[in-house]
Amino acid sequence: MIKNNRIDLIKGDITTLAVDAIVNAANRSLMGGGGVDGAIHDAAGHDLLTECIRLKGCDTGQAKITSGFRLRARYIIHTVGPVWKGGGNDEDNLLGSCYKTSLSIARDYKLKTIAFPNISTGVFGFPKELAAFIAVNEIKRFLKNNQLPEKVIIVTYSDENFDIYRKLLAE
Ligand code: ADP
Repeated sequence: MIKNNRIDLIKGDITTLAVDAIVNAANRSLMGGGGVDGAIHDAAGHDLLTECIRLKGCDTGQAKITSGFRLRARYIIHTVGPVWKGGGNDEDNLLGSCYKTSLSIARDYKLKTIAFPNISTGVFGFPKELAAFIAVNEIKRFLKNNQLPEKVIIVTYSDENFDIYRKLLAE
């Protein structure tokens, strides 16, 4: 684990963390899917799907909160990252908006700790270095201007993403 003031970097499974909120890299339907979304739905249990159905989807770049159900996390903040289509479709701003919107919800709920996966870098195909650069910039900017959340945990799942973030956070 690497600590950088209010940002921690870990490699592992986000569904196991005992934090106030974990962020889900969901899709617009909010009905579950593969990757981290599937892992979160599996771990949280079927009641999560029931609550997600009530939310009636979510736009790309936006976020919605649910209970954490069977997770150790109290809440799940579901955000929808952009699908990478070459970079000319506002992908950068939409990905930044996922981090900003999720952090704003955490602040409004007075949450102290929030954990993010590497949104859009799996099936959605966002270039990993660029995604990490956007994530770190948005998180740092938000923390500079807000006292809550106190701590952001970036959860990488691959050695490749861990190394990318380790280098970025060392700068
Ligand atoms: P997207 O559709 O937004 O690309 P994915 O779930 O396919 O979402 O991938 C997002 C990131 O989450 C990827 O970097 C993937 O390696 C990572 N990931 C997959 N499962 C987990 C997990 N259990 N915990 C943390 N990160 C995960």
